[in-house]
Amino acid sequence: MRKNYQLIRSKRKSLALQVVGAGELVVRAPERMPVRIIEAFIAEKQAWIEAAQARQQQRAQHAQQRWQEGARIPYLGKPLTLLSDASAHKPRREAGHLVIPKVPLEQQQALVYQWYREKARPVFAAAMETHFPYFERLGYQLPKLHIKLMKTRWGSLSSRGNMSLNLLLMQYPPQCLHSVVVHEFCHLVHMHHGPEFYALLDERYPNWRQADALLKSSPHYG
Ligand SMILES: [Zn+2]
Repeated sequence: MRKNYQLIRSKRKSLALQVVGAGELVVRAPERMPVRIIEAFIAEKQAWIEAAQARQQQRAQHAQQRWQEGARIPYLGKPLTLLSDASAHKPRREAGHLVIPKVPLEQQQALVYQWYREKARPVFAAAMETHFPYFERLGYQLPKLHIKLMKTRWGSLSSRGNMSLNLLLMQYPPQCLHSVVVHEFCHLVHMHHGPEFYALLDERYPNWRQADALLKSSPHYG
């Protein structure tokens, strides 16, 4: 049999197969199990492996299609149609389009994220300025803004006064950004999610529940 798999031996009792990345087969096996037994097992599971590989390849293809010509790129809650232009040096917005330089498909997402990043700072800073005066009157210092691509949260505030906002807020309607900003500002006063925290949030941004629901329901391409 052609060795077209990655073998990882460890102190385990049984064999396990896993299809990863673009369809690569990973085989986990006990330390001293003979190769012929491993390969017999792989041969027996061939149909399962091929199906898993096909699924994996399709997933990778779909991920790239999100960023190809004609794709709809969410920008502050409104879609922009992605176009590439060989003469463009950097991404630019043109009416309902986002025009980007011609690059290989797998680099398009990075270009779009770079563009989000460029646009994010003034938009995020303006949202902070809008909501900060109340907290300033209470004697708090304006937190320092950090823009990050985060997998599991929309924002965070450290006790040292650093506020991180998720770059992907650029994909959602502005009320989502505002809601996250006010949520983090309320943490200046209450460093927890107790009733006092929510009472303050209700007072400062009564529509936070709708914004939260939008953040949960709309798809984003992170
Ligand atoms: Zn919180």
